[in-house]
Amino acid sequence: MRPMSENHLPTAELQALDAAHHMHPFTEGDALNAKGARIITAAQGCYLTDSDGIEILDGMAGLWCVNIGYGRQEMADAAARQMRQLPFYNTFFQTSHPPAIHLAAKLAEIAPGDLNHVFFNGSGSDSNDTNLRMARVYWAHQGKPEKQVVISRWNGYHGSTMGAASLGGMKGMHKQGGLPIPGIVHINQPDWWAEGGDMSPEEFGIARARELEEMILEVGEDKVAAFIAEPVQGAGGVIVPPDSYWPEIKRILAKYDILFIADEVICGFGRTGNWFGCQTYDLHPDIMTIAKGLSSGYLPIGGSLVSDKVAQVINAGDEFAHGYTYSAHPVAAAVALENLRILQDEKIIETVQAETGPYLKEKWEALTDHPMVGEAKIVGMMASIALTPDKASRAKFAAKAGTVGLMARERCFANHLVMRHVGDRMIISPPLVITKPEIDLLIERARKALDETYAQVKADGLWKAAEA
Ligand SMILES: *Cc1c(COP(=O)(O)O)cnc(C)c1O
Repeated sequence: MRPMSENHLPTAELQALDAAHHMHPFTEGDALNAKGARIITAAQGCYLTDSDGIEILDGMAGLWCVNIGYGRQEMADAAARQMRQLPFYNTFFQTSHPPAIHLAAKLAEIAPGDLNHVFFNGSGSDSNDTNLRMARVYWAHQGKPEKQVVISRWNGYHGSTMGAASLGGMKGMHKQGGLPIPGIVHINQPDWWAEGGDMSPEEFGIARARELEEMILEVGEDKVAAFIAEPVQGAGGVIVPPDSYWPEIKRILAKYDILFIADEVICGFGRTGNWFGCQTYDLHPDIMTIAKGLSSGYLPIGGSLVSDKVAQVINAGDEFAHGYTYSAHPVAAAVALENLRILQDEKIIETVQAETGPYLKEKWEALTDHPMVGEAKIVGMMASIALTPDKASRAKFAAKAGTVGLMARERCFANHLVMRHVGDRMIISPPLVITKPEIDLLIERARKALDETYAQVKADGLWKAAEA
């Protein structure tokens, strides 16, 4: 058998076909097509193989999702078994099937508190659309149809459908296609590095949390349906909030009669060192969004984990007129169930919490000794560093935001490491099964990429702070 990396057309031919026919998400098409996409042909453990046979350490677990690592035979077997047994059936017309039933029961078992019910969706975006409607329907069923407004955060990410992108606080997304849809308002994020000014992180955390209370009062408690937030913002740049932030949010949530939706699409399934980010921060959501790590990305599946309180109201009301053809797709559900079994049986999350997480934390935080690294933040296996030309003043680069970050990402790729950039923050979210030697390699490659970026920034005359 030929090696996997050769079992395809030559790279240039694949790139030409890709350019001619494939439209990529979140991409400037012409720019990519002129350059040619990097083509990934195989993966095993924490490593990707590209079409030229190069092995790349995947510091992003695909797109925050391949928590158990690539290439698990049991996952392929679970899919094949289920595909032979029952490849598809719907759950619309008073029918169910064993994978949906077992996965829902398993999720109820591992989820904290009274999150005992699951509405299945195809993705994280779908799930947040479900949550938006469910939160509004919850209040309508109780004779409060005017409780419609959902409060979200700038620079939060909740997906890319009309509803989910509106819930999200990505201004670049709002600019396209007439977003946000009505009834969604945003408060500021707890990003102390970028926005904290002269406040201490603790003062800033409190101030940003109090914006929730101010917004509830401004909109009117009688009009607010819910607050939605990620325990740790992922796509926004792995923004770890100051320690004061969540306790103050909790105080406010306890005071007002609104639902709390925790978007755990990234934080869930071990990413923060516990099963859920809500456990890391002791939060008690009424609804939790799950996707990504639910199946470790082996198949697309998402869900809304729903509390007894909300499920009782939704179940008792008129038909909830919502659902997807692939809600609880049997093959995706069987694969997700196998993923949960692997996470549990192999004590992957316990290992992150007790061993590999602390190991990565020590090495990651030491990156602040690099001349270009301001702060280093990490929770479990999601981490970020802020690149800056002046650590003391937390200055931004004079160059357009993201110029240096993109340069660093390119240097990482050149050194066979996937590390993403969000503006001038570099972020990682490796597979949870990453070992200590692989962590050493990740840090070694990251340091080399940072050194090369630093040299290039200086050579290009970009080592210059923006005016304050
Ligand atoms: C990725 C993500 C989503 C959207 O999930 P998709 O499966 O891409 O639709 C929603 N919320 C968060 C926090 C995410 O990271």
